[in-house]
Amino acid sequence: MKIPTEACYMLDVNRLLTQGALRPGVRSTQWWTFGQDDVIQASIETVAAVQGITLYYTVANRGNKPQKYSYTVPLKWIPCNYGGRRPYFICLGVVNNQPCMRRVTKIYLPPGENLFLCRHCYRLTYYSCKESGDVHFTTMRRTRRAARKLGLTDPEDVYLMDRPKGMHKRTFQKLRKDVIRAIEEEQRAFGMAARNFV
Ligand SMILES: [Zn+2]
Repeated sequence: MKIPTEACYMLDVNRLLTQGALRPGVRSTQWWTFGQDDVIQASIETVAAVQGITLYYTVANRGNKPQKYSYTVPLKWIPCNYGGRRPYFICLGVVNNQPCMRRVTKIYLPPGENLFLCRHCYRLTYYSCKESGDVHFTTMRRTRRAARKLGLTDPEDVYLMDRPKGMHKRTFQKLRKDVIRAIEEEQRAFGMAARNFV
């Protein structure tokens, strides 16, 4: 999916961390929804490595030819006082020939721009920026939740399972349909992720 640049998009390094999207080798789809119906309006692909996270997306500025982008935002892991370490993005911005290099937890793509940079580089003061979600994780959670109701550890077993003893036929059919729908949704999400990959 493309990024229409009417809105401001934000990536939060801690959100990515929670999703597991910073683990080297992990690929994720970050997406942004808008409106009451949570319609997906924009999404990007990410691939994590030890040194940084690579972003893949296409910017569709109104009136211009869609432009593909792929670049790696470096990550810096800083030890915490309480043990462990926290990740930071290193901002890739260059302002007045000066590389920004700030350690930041959030990077932004404001309207009309093409790159995810820090708040300072874009002098963002008033924009409300939308945080990304992750299709992969949300749909997987939904599938697992539906499968649990049928007592399944592997949702895919739904295709083979018999109706549990004591469960009403109608309840079983409904739950089964829920799981299958969730699996299909998940597959679509993955398919979308694959198509987005440039
Ligand atoms: Zn910056």
